[in-house]
Amino acid sequence: MARPSTAPLLRRRALGAALMSTALCRVARARPRQSTGKLAVGTSFETSFHLIDSGHQGPTVMIVAGIHGNELAPPQAARLLLGEPLAKGRTLVVPEASRPALAAKSRYAPASRYPDLNRNFPTSQRSAPRGVMAPALWDKTKSLGPDWVLDLHEGWGFSASSKSMGSSVVAAVDPRVEAKVLPMAESVLAAANRTVTSRPRRFTMIRPGPSGSFARATVEHLAIPSLVLETTWVQPLQRRLDQQLLMVRTVLRALGMLPSP
Ligand SMILES: [Zn+2]
Repeated sequence: MARPSTAPLLRRRALGAALMSTALCRVARARPRQSTGKLAVGTSFETSFHLIDSGHQGPTVMIVAGIHGNELAPPQAARLLLGEPLAKGRTLVVPEASRPALAAKSRYAPASRYPDLNRNFPTSQRSAPRGVMAPALWDKTKSLGPDWVLDLHEGWGFSASSKSMGSSVVAAVDPRVEAKVLPMAESVLAAANRTVTSRPRRFTMIRPGPSGSFARATVEHLAIPSLVLETTWVQPLQRRLDQQLLMVRTVLRALGMLPSP
């Protein structure tokens, strides 16, 4: 009996490969989709959030900046992150969490009953956030259910050589998320310290962070891993931006959300 021709099979394979290659091209060409929304609508704290969706399944990372208005690099870094070419997953970015504080260039929101936004989140004594913006940010965090929260801040000095929390990675302590938080904090620390040659300016790890802070509350009350990424504002703005972006990208890369360098 004559052997059946393999030509139709080969043609089908070639067609399959061509279709696959077209599909891959479509995947490679997919652009992240960005949508925006508002928090604390109708209040003096009203601010925008930006959802950047790669269009491919993956982790969700919430990135918050501008909780303190005298820390100028984080909101700028957050805005730069809106253009990040995500390979998978999505980010939700809040560049200006406390607009009244940012307008006043002050740590505190003027004329606010609870002026330090980063002390208004749930604590061991208080199960609900207080004030205007903390409840809005908290509700958004709960409805989004991110895999990670990153909160960008700055301090007046270097944590390695002063009482400031500047130039540090702050990680809350909770056994439910420890296996994720600790190795990620160490990776970020190592990356940040590759940019530092002076020992008193090295990044350190601080734990668990202040009670009532956003990042500590997400760990302790929602069991969502979080890190506070802190630079030091006495340094040139560009250096602080570079360090903020490096730290965030270290996390996104570890989660497989950025293309390989
Ligand atoms: Zn701060």
